[in-house]
Amino acid sequence: MPLSSKLLLIILDGLPWRNWKPFMGNLEGWVQSGDAKKWRMRSVLPSTSACCYASIHTGVSPQEHGIGSNEFRFRVSQPDIFSEVAKAGGKSGAVTHSYWSEFFNRYPFDHVRDIEYEEPEGPIHHGRFHTMAGYGHTNQMTPSDVDLFATLTMLGVRHGIDYGILHTCTVDSMGHRYGQDCVEMDNALYALDASLAGFLPRWRAAGYEVIVTADHGQTHRGHHGGHDDEMQDVALYYFGPAKGPKEDLLLDQLQLAPTILKRLGVPVPKTMKAKPFLS
Ligand SMILES: [Zn+2]
Repeated sequence: MPLSSKLLLIILDGLPWRNWKPFMGNLEGWVQSGDAKKWRMRSVLPSTSACCYASIHTGVSPQEHGIGSNEFRFRVSQPDIFSEVAKAGGKSGAVTHSYWSEFFNRYPFDHVRDIEYEEPEGPIHHGRFHTMAGYGHTNQMTPSDVDLFATLTMLGVRHGIDYGILHTCTVDSMGHRYGQDCVEMDNALYALDASLAGFLPRWRAAGYEVIVTADHGQTHRGHHGGHDDEMQDVALYYFGPAKGPKEDLLLDQLQLAPTILKRLGVPVPKTMKAKPFLS
C-alpha cells in the first residue's frame, strides 16, 4: 500500500447541523460509545452544492476555484484530493453525482462515456456516477442510498481503493421538496441513518478511516445558498485513530481537503492553505 492509511469520505448532501443529532441515532451512538468524534463545520459561500463540492475537494474558496453556482460548471484548475492521491501512487474511487467527475476529471459529462469508468492513470481511478437528470420538485430521481453505499463497498473489495468518496443527494432533494421540518424528512433521515449503519462497521473492519459530513445545511423551508448558519453549518463525524481539536471548535470546510490528504500520508499542495484538523 503506497499511502499510510485508507479513508472514505461520505457526503450527505444538504443535511443541516440541527438535524444530525435528533435523527442520526447510529452516528450519535458511535460518538457516545467513543468510536467516533464529532464537530460542527461551516460551508463556504455561496452555500450551493456545486460550489461546496469544488471547495471540499480542492480546499480553496469558490472565489478562487470559480464555481459560483450549479449552472456554470467546468473542470477546476486547482489540485484536489483525487489528483494528489493519484500523484502519490494511491487509488481512488468516486460514487457521486456527475458534477464531481466534471470538476475533477473532465467537463462536460458524457452519459455513456462517463457514467462508469476505470482509468488507471487517474485522477479518478474508479468512477461510478449518476446525473439525476429529470430531477425536479415532484420528481426526485435520486438513487437508493443502499445502492450507493454498496457500490462504494464494492470498489473497496474489488479494487482496494485507498481513498473513496460517496455523495448522496437524498436529504437535499427531500428538503427541497418537503422542507427539513416535516414527517417526510423525519423518515428519510431515519432511513438514511439505518442504511449507513449497515455499511459503516464493514468499512471500519476493512481498515478505512471514515468521515461523514454534508456539503451545506438547509433551512426548514428547504433552501440554501446564502450566508446563514442554517444554510452553512453541518456536522462532521470522524471514525479513526487521529486526534482532533476541542469539540466546540467550529471547523472550516476548506480544512477538509488538506486534512484528508494528511491522513492518507499524501503531501498537501501549496494551494490548500487551511490547517488540517486531524493529526
Ligand atoms: Zn448540496
